[in-house]
Formats: sequence, structure tokens, C-alpha cells
Amino acid sequence: MIVALLLAQAASTDAYLDQGRQRWEQVSRQIWEFAETGLQEKRSAAYLEDLLEKEGFKVQRGVGQLPTAFVATAGSGSPVVAVLAEYDALPELSQKAGESSKAPTAAGAPGHGCGHNLLGTAAVAAGVAANRARIERKLPGTIQIFGTPAEEILIGKTFMIMAGAFKDTDAVLSWHPDDNNEIDPGKRTALTATDVEFFGKTSHAAASPWLGRSALDALEVFEHSMALMREHILPTARIHRVIKNGGVVANVIPEYAKLQMWLRDANMSNVEEMIGRMRKAADGAALATETRAKVSVLASVRNPIGNEVLGRLMQKELERVGAPRWDESDVAFAKALQKELGMEQAGMDSAVAPFGRGKGSTASSDIGEVSAAAPLAELRVAARPIGTAAHHWAQTACAAHPTGGKGMLVASKVLAASLVDLLQDPASVQAAKAELAKATKGKPYASPLAADAKPTVF
Ligand SMILES: [Zn+2]
Repeated sequence: MIVALLLAQAASTDAYLDQGRQRWEQVSRQIWEFAETGLQEKRSAAYLEDLLEKEGFKVQRGVGQLPTAFVATAGSGSPVVAVLAEYDALPELSQKAGESSKAPTAAGAPGHGCGHNLLGTAAVAAGVAANRARIERKLPGTIQIFGTPAEEILIGKTFMIMAGAFKDTDAVLSWHPDDNNEIDPGKRTALTATDVEFFGKTSHAAASPWLGRSALDALEVFEHSMALMREHILPTARIHRVIKNGGVVANVIPEYAKLQMWLRDANMSNVEEMIGRMRKAADGAALATETRAKVSVLASVRNPIGNEVLGRLMQKELERVGAPRWDESDVAFAKALQKELGMEQAGMDSAVAPFGRGKGSTASSDIGEVSAAAPLAELRVAARPIGTAAHHWAQTACAAHPTGGKGMLVASKVLAASLVDLLQDPASVQAAKAELAKATKGKPYASPLAADAKPTVF
């Protein structure tokens, strides 16, 4: 009887989201077209904020030092249950909607290569649907929708936590578009992003090179040291970089050079150990070339603390809603993309992974920081073909295609029903909080960033 009642209640958020499907697809498409990168998401944030105000949410626009962050709140009292929305795009990943070979809308333009248009829209739709259910059934508690900008540079949520945005939050639900359907039990990686700069002495490259000390030489020695180091790191680690500045013209000895190095591993202590080794490589390169090295931390996020109570609650709803139902044209599109990328033409994922046996992700996210401030669980729903990865034009293509829309619909249903479950089940909320307290040994959240840090694009 109770089970039947709960299912009937859950189904009401499903029905609302099914009815509003076209509306949410338009919202998602609009954000896809805005395609604004981290800290520039002015139109995307305002669009979602206006929508939420019309839906009866009280919206705080601009949180802490972030003009494009928001907190939308409805209801009152406990429990305070939340969902995370993201809406930032990535540079240079624009792609024509639904095109299965690389075709940017404009050369060099940003695009939703991580599907955050789907992410943000499903989160907002879920919050709206859950709030309607809360009002209809006169449920106690508060629903929060966090508008979290600049995920791709891993700083938005950290600055929001530092501004106290999560201090009253009891439970947080999150999702990400992926190539499969699972609850991630906290398998993402920890990451620290750094700038490594070298300072030398300029001179005329032909007339008096002996007077110069090249910062580019230092950069090359450093690069070689890091390349050798890659053989001696754990298989779980990742080191990647781009050269931001290697001098300007060949006939002037460069006095300044800069790389951006991102280091990841399964946990933060492994990352910190690698950074210690990287600092030695930078100092060694400076010593060898008579230059000076400087290493600065740009952003740092821990690997998420898994929360089994929240994870199992969402798993139940994911199994009830089921994986997206793909039709022939979705599968044909998926296979065309897989063919183009030289991958197995395996189509779209139609299964739900059993709890704790999903594949997780080697990508990092600032949800890791939220997971240390409040209990958090992350859902993944297929919104791109099996085997494909985000941060690619193929994800941009899917994010404005029915494959993305179907994934988004499933995500919004699972999140909405899970939010309603939590409002009705204060014992689970308490258990989730107890689980986090045990994992952190009761230590309060400590930010990896300095107290006077400023959000900057890097
Ligand atoms: Zn992402």
C-alpha cells in the first residue's frame, strides 16, 4: 500500500515533466545557443533566474564574488534539500546541432561540449517539479536550486561554499550527462590546476645571446622532466598541460614563459605529492637555465565523498524511471558519431548499472568540494553514444539533439522524485548527514583556496 502510494506520488513529478517536455527542451536549447564560458554566463544565469522567479522561487542573484551564481529557494524549514545546476560552456567546442562530423557553428566559438545546458535545465526542471509536488501535498521542508557557474574551471561551487551558500543545506543531488546510466559512488578524481611560470633575462637573439637567459629554455627543461616523471606516477594519475606563453618572436630571447599544468589522481594526498615533485622539476629547470620558477595554484578540488544513503535513494528512482528509451534515429545518429570517431558502433546505453558497479569517471568536478560541505550523490544519465567522452564537439552535437533531450528528461525525473523522497523522509536525510560526519570525522569544511582568493578565469 505504502509502496503503491509512493510510486503514485513519484509518478506525479514524472507526469509533470513529461507534459512540460517541450518547454524544458527549449530552455536547454536556449542555453546551448548562449554557449557562455565560465564566469561569463550572464544570459544563461539570468534566463534560469527569471524562470525560477516566475515559478515562485525566491532567487538570490549573485552569490559571494560570483555574479553568475544564484540560489533559488522555495518552502521553509527542514529538511533543506538541494539540486545543483551548471550552465557554462567550453572554449572552441561549438558544433552544429545534430551534425555527426566536426562542423563548428563559428571557428573558435565556445560550445556545450560538456552538456551543461542539459545539466542546468534538468536540475531546474527537477526543482520546479519537486516544488509543485511539495505545495500540492503540503510537504514540510525547503528546496534549493544552486546555480553554480564556472564548473569547467573548477571554482564556482568552491567560492559559493566559502560565501556560506551551503551552510543550511541538508542534502545535495547532482547529475551529469554521460554515455551510461548509473549512480556514481564518488569515483571522480581529485585535481589541482597550476600555473608554472619562468622568469629569465631578455636580449638580442643574434647580437648578444650570451647576455640573455631564456625562460623558454627553462620551460623546455621542465617539460622534459615532467614527461620523464610520467613513467613514475601511479596508473590512476593524470598530468596534462598547455603552453600559455613561450615567447613572442624568435629574434628576442624570451624573458617570460608560462605553462598550465593540471594534476589529478584518485585522492588529494596523491595529487599533493605529485605537486611536490613538480615543484622540484620547476626549480631544477630554473637552476639549470639560470632563471626563476614560480608555481601558483589556480584551483583545487577533492575527489567526491560518496554518500551511500543518498546514492541508494537515487538508484531506486533511476531503476523506477529506467534508462532513456532510444528510437531508431537516436541509435543511427549515435552510430554515425561512433563511426566518425573511429569507435565501435555500439549505439546508446539502454541499461541501468547496478549500484556501486558503475564505471565512475576519471574527470574531476567542483562537486567534490560540495560533497565535503553537505552530503551529496551524483547521477549519470546517457546523453551521448557509448564510449564517447565529454569535452568534445560530439557532446556539443548531442546536447542539442533528441539523444541529449531524452537523457535530460530521465535525469530530471530521477532528481525530482528523489527530492520529493527526501522531503518525505527526514530519517534518510539524517542518515546521509551522519554518513558524511563519519567520513569527515566531524571536521568542518576547509577550502583549498586562500580566504582572500578571487575568482578568475584561467
Ligand atoms: Zn561537465
